[in-house]
Amino acid sequence: MPRSGKPRLAVWKFASCDGCQLSLLDCEDALLAVAGAVDIAYFPEASRAMAKGPYDLSLVEGSVTTPHDAHRIHEIRKASKTLVTIGACATAGGIQALRNFKEVRDLVPLVYASPGYIETLGKSTPIAYHVFVDYELHGCPIDKGQLVEVITAFVNGRRPNVSAQSVCMECKRAARVCVMVAHGTPCLGPVTHAGCGALCPGYHRGCYGCFGPKEAANTPAMAAAWQELGSGPVELTRAFRSFNAYAEAFRRESEAHER
Ligand code: SF4
Ligand code: SF4
Repeated sequence: MPRSGKPRLAVWKFASCDGCQLSLLDCEDALLAVAGAVDIAYFPEASRAMAKGPYDLSLVEGSVTTPHDAHRIHEIRKASKTLVTIGACATAGGIQALRNFKEVRDLVPLVYASPGYIETLGKSTPIAYHVFVDYELHGCPIDKGQLVEVITAFVNGRRPNVSAQSVCMECKRAARVCVMVAHGTPCLGPVTHAGCGALCPGYHRGCYGCFGPKEAANTPAMAAAWQELGSGPVELTRAFRSFNAYAEAFRRESEAHER
């Protein structure tokens, strides 16, 4: 810790859209309270702070997609007492993990005029594939209330109080009408991590799983329920293969239906 006695916070970016870092900046009043409780030592997106480690708490956004990043994450881990990954990219490889189901060498020339300049790994992988992670916060993007809770918890030396339930539980608590039962709209809420407050069912839409699979998600039963509503292999593969395509439960289920 610095002479101020405040914990030193660092925020790191890997392959990502920056949405989760923006969620932190969007915390407004809560962010001011956080900023008062920590010494922001490294956060290039928000400040000129680029101080060297060690850091008490590192927040890591994004997935590992290049050899350089595969090396860099080990340096960050060594410099960090606690490392927390934030968002679908960092916890599940992100939308860029769609490459993992194809041959990346075939895709690069389709996207870049000069493929020879591109140095990339064959797969986009979550941070936990490379180093030990103390805590994973899910979402695309993460929920800012959960983020403030996670920072506050680690700064105060306790475990975060973040629900491990499904979106369905939030949906019921908010007294929403179930779009699946009432309207026959396929919804991934039963297998998706809570955190958004059941946003999509609130707009009469099914959940498409942006918070990733909850613990012990029964995805085969979920797929069977979708099939009863008329979904075929194409719909099921696509449903489980989006922002969290490389999260184990969703990956397995999407592969089970791929034709
Ligand atoms: S609408 Fe979706 S999230 Fe809400 S209760 Fe129904 S299945 Fe669950
Ligand atoms: S897709 Fe699901 S988890 Fe994401 S905001 Fe909508 S209801 Fe919430």
